[in-house]
Amino acid sequence: MMSTENIPDLVILGAGPAGTAAAAFAAGKSLNVELLDQNQAPATLPLIEWLPAGADHLLEKLKVNRDEHVVGAVDTVRFIDAKNSRTAKTKLKPPVDLVLTHRLLEQLRSMAGERGAVVSAGTRIVSIDPREEKVHLVSATDQEFTGRLLVAADGTESWAAKKLGIYPKTQSRHSMSCQWASLGADLPKKTGQKPSAELSLLFTSDSLADFSYVYHAGDITLVGLITEAPPDRVESKFQFTVDWGKDDGVLPSDLVIDPGNLVHRTIPRGLALDMETHGAKRSLVIGDAGGFIPALSHDGLYPAIWSAELAVETCVSALDSPHPQDALSEFDHRWRRDMVEYLRLPNVDLRFLLPLVFSNEQMAQKVARAFVYGENL
Ligand SMILES: Cc1cc2nc3c(=O)[nH]c(=O)nc-3n(C[C@H](O)[C@H](O)[C@H](O)COP(=O)(O)OP(=O)(O)OC[C@H]3O[C@@H](n4cnc5c(N)ncnc54)[C@H](O)[C@@H]3O)c2cc1C
Repeated sequence: MMSTENIPDLVILGAGPAGTAAAAFAAGKSLNVELLDQNQAPATLPLIEWLPAGADHLLEKLKVNRDEHVVGAVDTVRFIDAKNSRTAKTKLKPPVDLVLTHRLLEQLRSMAGERGAVVSAGTRIVSIDPREEKVHLVSATDQEFTGRLLVAADGTESWAAKKLGIYPKTQSRHSMSCQWASLGADLPKKTGQKPSAELSLLFTSDSLADFSYVYHAGDITLVGLITEAPPDRVESKFQFTVDWGKDDGVLPSDLVIDPGNLVHRTIPRGLALDMETHGAKRSLVIGDAGGFIPALSHDGLYPAIWSAELAVETCVSALDSPHPQDALSEFDHRWRRDMVEYLRLPNVDLRFLLPLVFSNEQMAQKVARAFVYGENL
């Protein structure tokens, strides 16, 4: 509709939650879209993530059926201070959804396809060249792709953002994350089942930015770790969490975790706030690639989809504008206006907050909501 040439309006690099949602939003606005990913299909290791209700309106716009990807819910948060043996519990209303990420991705990918987006899987991009009228990309197998605009959603430590010269040289808060999830043998066949249970948040240091989480309900077992510790300490910290979970009785005592089944990733917490811009020539950067991760929690799924929607709205204006570059620069204003409150670090010293969680029910409730809903303190 908007093309003046026979090239896609948008080429989207990366088919994670951000890129796939962008493809579905853009195709829904009648843009011609090509979505590229180096992988053939969404990840094989299960990843279960909590997704705040704030994301529901975005998924409704994408016509994604939540019964297909919601596999559980958290209705209680239990804080554990491993150093001082203190605990505190608080109820969450409403419970927060636990989402099977690869199933959500499959849904988003089919919605993008149904709306006309072309998905080129198994395509690793190794060159980006933004030109006057279009952006030119080349894959590792010398395939060429061109779009009038590029949306880069290639994930944490984005190669594209570095190539486009918009990745900050120094980053203030990078964390490591590591998760193991087990779904039970026949879970993929079940839909609409949502066992609600407690999420245990285990703190082994004085920092709220360094924690483990354990969830076990029905067929679902989830053990994860977010830490600012060096990468070589991640697995021992993870093992500490598993041992603690077994001692505490929250994990089955015979649970065996194969280290080969751990999902590791660097989490660019709060990085978006450190980036001067998310736009380059004919390009925007979204999702983890743009550092759209709240500075306190690590829930990047909602901001990935949110930044995708804002980027697509910006691209629609840019494609219609005689000055596309000026129109693209609006993205920085849009996301700062809408998302800053969600992403920014609380205006309080986190070291002083942790002890309060164990002595003050109101504070426990606030901090729990900050972790699982991304609400600011
Ligand atoms: C262990 C763990 C637990 C998490 N838990 C939660 C949680 O509970 N709640 C929550 O909201 N968030 C959670 N997150 C964060 C969330 O998963 C991410 O923020 C989200 O996946 C970001 O989506 P994205 O599309 O930006 O990036 P990604 O999902 O990383 O997708 C990037 C895509 O780009 C592709 N790509 C990269 N480079 C190239 C290239 N050169 N050529 C072609 N393709 C390329 C990759 O193959 C990949 O498919 C968790 C993350 C991890 C690792």
